[in-house]
Amino acid sequence: MSFLCPKCKTYRLEIVESIKVEPGPNDDDKLIQIVRCSCGFEGIAIYEESRRGADDAVNHMGYFVPENKTTELEKAIKNKENINVRDFTINRETGYSYDRFEMEL
Ligand SMILES: [Zn+2]
Repeated sequence: MSFLCPKCKTYRLEIVESIKVEPGPNDDDKLIQIVRCSCGFEGIAIYEESRRGADDAVNHMGYFVPENKTTELEKAIKNKENINVRDFTINRETGYSYDRFEMEL
C-alpha cells in the first residue's frame, strides 16, 4: 500500500513503522506511523478511526517533521516507550502543529 509522496508527487510513500497509541476522545483507534519514500522524504503520520454510528470516519494525515523527529520516534517504538503524539506533531518552539499533508492512496 503506497501513498502520495508530498515531495516527489508519486505514489511511493510507504509506512515503515506503525504503532497504536492512546486514542483521543473521538477516536476508537489511533496509530502513529513513520512514512518514507524512495526519493528520500521521511515524515510522521497519524491514523485515526472512529466507529460511532453515523460518524464513522477515518482521518489520515502526514506531518512534515524535522529529521530528528522520525529518528526519535523510531527509538521510542523500539524501546516500547509511552508515546505522546503531541511530541511528534507539535513544534515545541512555536506551539503550532507541523505542516500537514493528506495521506492519499
Ligand atoms: Zn517521494
